[in-house]
Amino acid sequence: MSKNIDWSNLGFGYVPTDKRFVANFVNGKWDEGALIDDPMVTMSECAGVLQYAQTCFEGLKAYRTEDGKVVCFRPDLNAARMADSCRRLEMPVFPEDKFVDACLAVVKANLDFVPPYGSGATLYLRPYMFGINPVIGVKPAEDYQFRIFCTPVGPYFKGGAKPIVIRVSDFDRAAPNGTGHIKAGLNYAMSLHAIVDAHNKGFSENMYLDPKTRTKVEETGGANFIFITKDGTLVTPKSDSILPSITRRSLMIVAEKYLGMKVEHREVYLDELKDFAECGLCGTAAVISPVGKIDDHGNEICFPAGMEEMGPWTKKLYDTLTGIQMGRLEAPEGWIRVIE
Ligand SMILES: *Cc1c(COP(=O)(O)O)cnc(C)c1O
Repeated sequence: MSKNIDWSNLGFGYVPTDKRFVANFVNGKWDEGALIDDPMVTMSECAGVLQYAQTCFEGLKAYRTEDGKVVCFRPDLNAARMADSCRRLEMPVFPEDKFVDACLAVVKANLDFVPPYGSGATLYLRPYMFGINPVIGVKPAEDYQFRIFCTPVGPYFKGGAKPIVIRVSDFDRAAPNGTGHIKAGLNYAMSLHAIVDAHNKGFSENMYLDPKTRTKVEETGGANFIFITKDGTLVTPKSDSILPSITRRSLMIVAEKYLGMKVEHREVYLDELKDFAECGLCGTAAVISPVGKIDDHGNEICFPAGMEEMGPWTKKLYDTLTGIQMGRLEAPEGWIRVIE
């Protein structure tokens, strides 16, 4: 009873589905929450989120596996990360076990929107929370709403993942001791000007540096970096202001346990980029986007894999992680939550 959707031509956009989850934090406690039909949010013109951007979010996917099951990938890590975001933003934590239950309930209530196996499309889940009562003096809101909606999204790369060209940005994404490590909407609001500017100049993404010394690699606006050395070591940048990507953390385990690679999570300097063999961006949406070239103010760093296809190690990492997500490979304990 699949919905009448052209799965192979879906983009990465919002398609309303049948049900969404809503819970309210009022008088200092969360209510039970419920699945509802109405996709609209109603709130005061003075709601805390609208005035002072008190909001955070998560992103994860449900997949239809090779043997026809519907599964979620590591939702417990999204629950834990959202709890961290809430604490940093003075918002109440939605209990982590209930967060996972609500994710699974939303997928179950919208099963007809889970794209078929092999289509490349997936069901994207967006949990988020915001301050909803009127706030005019600067302080945290008292009442909050937690919601999860889902929307089917197309394959991130139509016709295969072509390497992209990115630039070293003069804008900063996250201040030292700031909010770079949490998934706050405000980090994205700040990055919009930088990404529009990058696109206008012909670059797909911004590579942000550590704002204090501008010598170390942090991440892009919405994805962590992975690098591969010439002898096949996976290197990922370490910094307190990088958002801890679940894809990146999973790839580190896949590299070590499935592919026998050495893995280093450490500071990565801008002036060592030229020595790497491969570069990619990782996140839930695309899993890995290969990077072919980095433009540092006219100085071009070109990776040996070229501009036509993913490098060989990147491809192995990509195939192994997506193989686990789609049920073609056995997953580490606890990574896959079966919904149906
Ligand atoms: C969400 C996000 C990522 C990717 O995290 P995943 O858990 O892998 O989806 C990377 N960087 C930033 C800034 C993000 O907001």
